[in-house]
Amino acid sequence: MTNWPVHAAWNGPIVMIGFGSIGRGTLPLILRHIKCDPKQITVIDPDASRSQLVESQGASFIGQALTPKNYRKILTPLLTAGESPAFIVNLSVDVDSLDIMRLARETHSLYIDTVIEPWPGFYYNSKVPQGDRTNYALREKLLALKKALGPGPTAVSCCGANPGMVSWFVKQALMDIAAATKTQVAEPKTRDGWAKLMKRLGIKGIHVAERDTQRTKKPKPFGTFVNTWSVEGFISEGLQPAELGWGTHEKKLPPKAKRHKTGSGAAIYIETPGADTRVRTWTPTEGAHFGYLVTHNEAISIADYYTVRDGRKVTYRPTCHYAYHPSNDAVLSWHEMLGNGGKRLKHAYVLDEDQIADGRDELGVLLYGHKKNAYWFGSQLSIEEARTLAPYQSATGLQVTSAVLAGMIWAIENPLSGIVETDEMDYRRCLELQTPYLGPVRGVYTNWTPLDSVIELFATDLDRKDPWQFQNILVR
Ligand code: NAD
Repeated sequence: MTNWPVHAAWNGPIVMIGFGSIGRGTLPLILRHIKCDPKQITVIDPDASRSQLVESQGASFIGQALTPKNYRKILTPLLTAGESPAFIVNLSVDVDSLDIMRLARETHSLYIDTVIEPWPGFYYNSKVPQGDRTNYALREKLLALKKALGPGPTAVSCCGANPGMVSWFVKQALMDIAAATKTQVAEPKTRDGWAKLMKRLGIKGIHVAERDTQRTKKPKPFGTFVNTWSVEGFISEGLQPAELGWGTHEKKLPPKAKRHKTGSGAAIYIETPGADTRVRTWTPTEGAHFGYLVTHNEAISIADYYTVRDGRKVTYRPTCHYAYHPSNDAVLSWHEMLGNGGKRLKHAYVLDEDQIADGRDELGVLLYGHKKNAYWFGSQLSIEEARTLAPYQSATGLQVTSAVLAGMIWAIENPLSGIVETDEMDYRRCLELQTPYLGPVRGVYTNWTPLDSVIELFATDLDRKDPWQFQNILVR
């Protein structure tokens, strides 16, 4: 397609923090779909190796790392340069999302990120109790800030593929299941309405079920960590405790599981690294397979959003967690790293679109436990199609960058929404904007249950009566 639609216009400065795999892919999408002057765009990243790529698109580059000490000094003049407000697009690692959101509010800027990122010192601090190293803890701080700041310019939190797009998929999947089961419903207009619909449909839980089959042209060398998106981001979340939204149908806490004493109570954590905690899951192409229970913001936000209460008593909540089979080379990277006490491998790189031979990122939501057993709804974007749609990204990257684009346009259209999570956004509008970049988007019903994936020779401690108990999903 050459006649790309322009969806919005932005007259103020755009400040992009971080120009790694996601920043690189996002910049051309902004220039394609949001009418703006490239001269108004500034990219900040300590890695100057890609400054040329920024400048060749007409934007400016600052080769510096933001730190707790310098971020106000560097950002404030950029954000207040024009007569119109600025837009901050935070796609970095190691830059605290909440501090940048506060500055966004002070300067009346709009804001978007793809993860709640802390300053360095959070992920690997062995002195901090495990419960404080969780995404639950990060999200509770976000919710506190949302409350403290109240209404004001829009700041979209965690708007990538997952967290992000998958929250829009959950709503579409609910409407599909309602239609398939002939459940008469008008589309809910409120959070409470959506939660009650999920309860009424009998959904016990949701896997964010992702199978990345992208293969490298050259198999990864020994001692090198390879991934289809941020290596830094994947290692930090993979070494956080495994974490999941904990549903009301669950009968038995898993071994090493802990509850939180404060906050929403929507999630539990398990005192094992997410990248070393396996679950049984299912996606359409491969069918049954192992995924890793890596902690993700959406596991908690979705479980929280769909909670039904009677007064203060929780009467319904779905279980929700990530079930991620990364690319084969990423699995091998973790295998090497965890086999050596979690020590960093000598080398690391993110695969770019030219280093990938074939494969796709099949990323969707598997809603289970209802009348039709289980339903996967998601994107099956291949590397070949990604290459034809947009420059500088793998299939994984494009699922993320197109969500950032959709989130930015939604924010421009809804500029006074305060801090929002993607569960709270208009899923139809966001998917309308994003779907052209997602390859085949399909919904598939399956009769699979986790009991089908159990090795019967070693089957113990299963709940045969309720296939969807988490104890059947967790691999022990
Ligand atoms: P990346 O590792 O490829 O790039 C991160 C960039 O941040 C690097 O270029 C790095 O130099 C830069 N950076 C590091 N410290 C910085 C600092 N102090 N100030 C400014 N820049 C700094 O990562 P990526 O794949 O581009 O991912 C970017 C972010 O998006 C990560 O936080 C990642 O976890 C997140 N992400 C979210 C999703 C999702 O679906 N929600 C998917 C992929 C990535």
